[in-house]
Amino acid sequence: MALLEVLYFPDNRLRKKAVPFETVDENCRTLAGDMLETMYDGQGIGLAATQVNIQKRLVVIDLSPEKNEPIYLINPEILSSEGTEESREGCLSVPEYYDFVTRAERITYSYQDLEGEYIESETDGLLAICIQHEIDHLNGKLFIDYLSPMKRQRLRKKLEKQERFQTNIL
Ligand code: ZN
Repeated sequence: MALLEVLYFPDNRLRKKAVPFETVDENCRTLAGDMLETMYDGQGIGLAATQVNIQKRLVVIDLSPEKNEPIYLINPEILSSEGTEESREGCLSVPEYYDFVTRAERITYSYQDLEGEYIESETDGLLAICIQHEIDHLNGKLFIDYLSPMKRQRLRKKLEKQERFQTNIL
């Protein structure tokens, strides 16, 4: 397994739309393993391929405290949703920024597993929020897009300053 480079907002490559896998093969499984390692390394609970500059529809998630219950979602899709729930989100691609986002409370979703098997399931709570956040990534959307333009502009300036600072000290 290998650590992959994570893209950070406002990198435009985070805006690319990912394409589906036609077949679930060894390349797909290797990428899934590398993404999982990258996600654990960054202390994240979810990661979409778009965040590591690969425009394929693959998401990894692990909500367990022990980090030993990985979930792999290949070609995930939300089939239906109901209710609304507000929670505070963060993102590996938007470091050290957290804000409230309103999402569907309960979702029915489909995906393929690492063997390529098609599965339909439903969930709520943190997993539902996480799946919505990650599928947004695959469509080139970030959680900060739900913020007001003014708030997002302030955040962009702040992060760009931080980047310069980091460049100076390295
Ligand atoms: Zn994210």
